[in-house]
Amino acid sequence: MGEMAKPKGMDGMSAKIIDGKAFSGQLIAKIAAHVTTLRNTHDFTPGLAVILVGEDPASQVYVRNKAEKTKVCGMRSIEHLMPADTSQEMLLALIEQMNRDDQVDGILVQLPLPNQIDDKAVIQAIAPEKDVDGFHVVNAGLLATGQPALVPCTPYGCLMMLQHHFSDLSGLNAVVLGRSNIVGKPMAQLLLNANATVTIAHSRTKDLAHICRQADILIAAVGRPAMVSGEWIKKGAVIIDVGINRLPAPNQGEKKYHLTGDVDFDSASEVASAITPVPGGVGPMTIACLLRNTLVAATRRRNIAIDDI
Ligand code: NDP
Repeated sequence: MGEMAKPKGMDGMSAKIIDGKAFSGQLIAKIAAHVTTLRNTHDFTPGLAVILVGEDPASQVYVRNKAEKTKVCGMRSIEHLMPADTSQEMLLALIEQMNRDDQVDGILVQLPLPNQIDDKAVIQAIAPEKDVDGFHVVNAGLLATGQPALVPCTPYGCLMMLQHHFSDLSGLNAVVLGRSNIVGKPMAQLLLNANATVTIAHSRTKDLAHICRQADILIAAVGRPAMVSGEWIKKGAVIIDVGINRLPAPNQGEKKYHLTGDVDFDSASEVASAITPVPGGVGPMTIACLLRNTLVAATRRRNIAIDDI
């Protein structure tokens, strides 16, 4: 599940492609089945509220994709589009309303927010039990202490793909490149909880190449196109490329940019045993994990036990 052999005609490549798109499709089908069961047995439909402030084009695409996949799962999608000059007070008032609304199981505020709004204040205003992005300090603390939490979607999607690939991560050397609160740190916590030996690297780390070459698992989450080349990779390592970098695509007609990861896919594929592509790797898993979190939040709030997914 979720993996396919190397593409034909790409000579010199040996790595398996970890197909996040296929994997996420299977996860979404499982979530949809749970939603149908919940509707039949408990007479409710989980609801996800997504709030977008302003008109950032990339954020608009993300919000549209999230709403579409929410509906594919049979959940209710509640979208709040607010103008770019929305005040922090107005946004906090809407979040408070969503916190109290029993029909809303998950609340996601699309980041980045306009300058007049403090991201941290907004994230902390979301009720932790509805915090499907997993960014609230309560959820970060629960994850850090190994307790059931709503876990940030991108690292959770990476963990699912890794657990499928290895089945047991115990004792493996994992290097996480990047230490942001939304990817690097929670990724490291998840790997630690799964008994990997974890190194976190960042912009002040000395001799990154040497550190990366120790990794059985290398997670790249830096936001620098093709920073990690095959020379940084240990033979047979598994590479998860979180980076999404938009590069101009001048000669491609309507298409103004193309997406590339933090890993140089071609050279990495010659050394690694498996690798996620960009696009089609971590990105689709992030959205699927958001819906998984919504399902988890909806059932936990109502004390309904479901099989783990
Ligand atoms: P941040 O900018 O918040 O964090 C980047 C991290 O990379 C920082 O810890 C920074 O170190 C480190 N870093 C930057 N430059 C270097 C360098 N030259 N050498 C070593 N470390 C470096 O980014 P995010 O964590 O939010 O996102 C990372 C990437 O993942 C981005 O491309 C983003 O678009 C993508 N992303 C993809 C998602 C998906 O669904 N696929 C979801 C979320 C993000 P320091 O802390 O020292 O500054």
